[in-house]
Amino acid sequence: MPGFELFGELEKQQVNDVLDNGVLMRYGFDGMRKGHWKAKELETELSKAFQSKHVQLVSSGTAAVSVALASAGVGAGDEVIMPTFTFVASFEAIMMLGAIPVLVDIDDTLCLNPEAVQQAITPKTKAIMVVQMCGSMGNMEALQNIVQKNNLLLVEDACQAIGGTYNNKPLGSIGDLGCFSFDFVKTITCGEGGAVITNNENFYTNADHYSDHGHDHVGNDRGAETHPFLGYNFRISELHAAVGLAQVKRLPEFLEIQRKYLKIFQEVVGALPQVTLRTVPSGGEESGAFFNFFLPDLEVSRKVIQGFKNGGIDACWNYFDNNWHYIRKWDHLKNLKSLFPITQEVKTGLQYLENATFQKSDHFIGRNISCLIKLSWTEEEVKTRAQKMAKVIATVLK
Ligand SMILES: *Cc1c(COP(=O)(O)O)cnc(C)c1O
Repeated sequence: MPGFELFGELEKQQVNDVLDNGVLMRYGFDGMRKGHWKAKELETELSKAFQSKHVQLVSSGTAAVSVALASAGVGAGDEVIMPTFTFVASFEAIMMLGAIPVLVDIDDTLCLNPEAVQQAITPKTKAIMVVQMCGSMGNMEALQNIVQKNNLLLVEDACQAIGGTYNNKPLGSIGDLGCFSFDFVKTITCGEGGAVITNNENFYTNADHYSDHGHDHVGNDRGAETHPFLGYNFRISELHAAVGLAQVKRLPEFLEIQRKYLKIFQEVVGALPQVTLRTVPSGGEESGAFFNFFLPDLEVSRKVIQGFKNGGIDACWNYFDNNWHYIRKWDHLKNLKSLFPITQEVKTGLQYLENATFQKSDHFIGRNISCLIKLSWTEEEVKTRAQKMAKVIATVLK
């Protein structure tokens, strides 16, 4: 997946372009910048790549989630349903707005379980946030039905699924709002950066203002802008956008490599009798950022990971005991370790976590192995790697 594996001359040219004209900020300085608008150009490119009318670049993927929710009016006391398996950023972005993250089980897609989502809906629910984990997607049809019936927002965190599609539509473009990260380990990178995409004009205008102090961006006299509402600073810089501009042009090339390698892993490792592949909803195509499969149980998964380590196979994980990506180790959330006071509303809203068990999530995460697919490998290396992995698994299962 990592965009950082493949960058060089094109990225340098774009960055030098910015340094040569000296305007590092994305807004204003019209006279000085001699026609260089890297962030604007990148927004146009992303709009094409993700088939979405509007794109607002921001400073990170976490910022993208917060800005997306805020631009749709989600705030204090609102509940946002999200999965137990994701990156910690998901609940951070919700809590930053004073909203309440409601964690629910995943299923064999490794994303939101629609039944669990349905059961978690209360009068306070405002949005469902599906996190398209490890290059693939949740059951979008079922989730879309739920949001329609209950008049909720569907937000897609597609940070890990850049280039994945559902019914030929890019992931991120299916919900009301989509979020991307271009941090250093994502499929394409800006160094740090993110984007909100939407076809909703109003959400877009809100995101545009909110991510830049509430400035209305009317006219080209920066100091004269007014503030329709309060905002913060989640801007991206021209330097970061410049890197992204070079990277986005290479996205088709990156995706082709990822998908070719994913297929090899699926054919070799997926052929083993006790291995099942992660479920991809019908109509879905993975981005190929990761290869995911299931083993019979947690114990086998742990032995296989150990076997991989002993055999020098890196970049594969079982997330059951992972600090960053799975509910079991998120004690800072469960115990509400905050630097500053949190509202009683959020405290009460999170009490459910004290006794919550997520057996369905444990069942799937315990059996899952997730392997990063690197762009820098050769096809030969991938084939050898897949054979080695298959051997380790066969030995453990014997
Ligand atoms: C990386 C990631 C984020 C956060 O992105 P940053 O740019 O690092 O803030 C959010 N959600 C998911 C699923 C991610 O993988």
